[in-house]
Amino acid sequence: MAIQVYDTLNRKKEELITRDPGKIGIYICGPTVYNYIHIGNGRTYLSFDIIIRYLRYRGYDVTYVRNITDIDDKIINKAREEGVSAEEIARRYTKAFHDDADGMGLARPTVEPKATDHIRSMIEMIEGLIKKGLAYVVDGDVYFEVTKFPGYGKLSHRSLTDMRAGERVEVDPRKHHPMDFALWKAAKPGEPAWESPWGMGRPGWHIECSAMSRKYLGDDFDIHGGGQDLIFPHHENEIAQSEGYTGKEFARYWMHGGMVNIGEEKMAKSLGNVILVKDLLKEHNPNVLRLLALGTHYRSPIDFGPEKLKEAESAYERFLNARRRIEHSLSSETVTMLPEKVELIGSLENASLEAKKKFIEAMDDDFNSAAALASMFELVKEINTFIEAFGGQMTIMAKDALEKADRILLELSGAVGLDLTLPEAVGVAEKLPDAIYELASAVLGIALDSKKKDQLLDEILERRNEARKNKDWAIADMIRDRLLKMGIEIEDTPLGSRWKIK
Ligand code: AMP
Ligand code: ZN
Repeated sequence: MAIQVYDTLNRKKEELITRDPGKIGIYICGPTVYNYIHIGNGRTYLSFDIIIRYLRYRGYDVTYVRNITDIDDKIINKAREEGVSAEEIARRYTKAFHDDADGMGLARPTVEPKATDHIRSMIEMIEGLIKKGLAYVVDGDVYFEVTKFPGYGKLSHRSLTDMRAGERVEVDPRKHHPMDFALWKAAKPGEPAWESPWGMGRPGWHIECSAMSRKYLGDDFDIHGGGQDLIFPHHENEIAQSEGYTGKEFARYWMHGGMVNIGEEKMAKSLGNVILVKDLLKEHNPNVLRLLALGTHYRSPIDFGPEKLKEAESAYERFLNARRRIEHSLSSETVTMLPEKVELIGSLENASLEAKKKFIEAMDDDFNSAAALASMFELVKEINTFIEAFGGQMTIMAKDALEKADRILLELSGAVGLDLTLPEAVGVAEKLPDAIYELASAVLGIALDSKKKDQLLDEILERRNEARKNKDWAIADMIRDRLLKMGIEIEDTPLGSRWKIK
């Protein structure tokens, strides 16, 4: 079955059919860079990171565009408070955002356009909207006229009357309709401003995303996403601008992530209840944060609290402990056949395949990561049972089945960006002797210290396997003996060679 995606616009799950077969264009609204991001923002970016990685795992060629909003009222206000330029604020928090994004292990977007680099494209769109009678100019401001776009409200499923209910702010008498929104804002003294046909000014927030998505993905593309709080007015307005301008359907699928709440309230800078990503990362491994995101469906809210973190911590530990037991079993002495355990091997192999099948079914069903995670834990349970049953007495066949199960666990975790590398294994490569470099240069002809020692060792072992295949025993034995002298033992298995430091 094909991948199903919940589309906010049609309010149902639909089969994912992309504009160009095998390719996906995705636009995710990026941060307004005036402050550090909090874990609510972090969750939304993580959710889309998980989705994008999974789509790549399923073979799609994904073009991922995530913008930086580097001109906005909030940036200008912050600059004023600190007595620095808006550019400086934007520069500082763009850097901070990149640090946090890298810290969380987010894949970099294919393109990361900045709003201020695309002012001309925005002006071009605004001019087009005026020409089409969808926008009007007053005193150097330009407004979109919502009553002229028949589909206004289709994403948020609200009529213009609903939108006005409970209206408290005084309506600007220059607007034709209270819901008309700014495409261009005339410059106030001291604000950053660009030349335009309507005088000096700057773009409104919504037109930025319409212009940048169009530039990098085209008039129509596959997925547009962000947090649920962006549905109205931001995404509703993007649709009005883009479809009004091009006359084509804008995004095929609208995906929105659930909020992170604290108690009854949304986590928001304005409410002062935020936990910053950079602070959380000081105390917790990024995989813990990712597990927190994976444990809840991306559209459901997360009520954040210490117990949520604890759950994610213990999930991470459960994975790592399983991987430690696996490594321990694989490096323990291999014993000869124990016939009564043969059926256990078959059942671990089945469990591995079953886990992969369930994982894919879950992720294909609108990225149900919680169910996908459950299938990984089922595999962990089977692995633990298997290791216990053998009690440290594994045959070659048992080790192979265990190694296959481990590979599937790593494949599935990798598909959603979870890194289950053992933290202690990172240091092991460093413990390898420098003599590896000389051996690499002798058998591979690779320049000294051109690569990391563990990478070189893998290549040396590959070279040895090749030699064995060609019955070139002199080379194969030479490699084995020299490694042994360095204290590195090789074990040959049907799946390849494994090494361990004696
Ligand atoms: P902002 O900087 O407020 O435009 O937010 C950047 C991204 O984070 C947007 O996709 C928002 O929808 C999302 N976001 C903001 N607050 C939260 C929250 N409490 N929970 C989840 N996502 C959020
Ligand atoms: Zn946007």
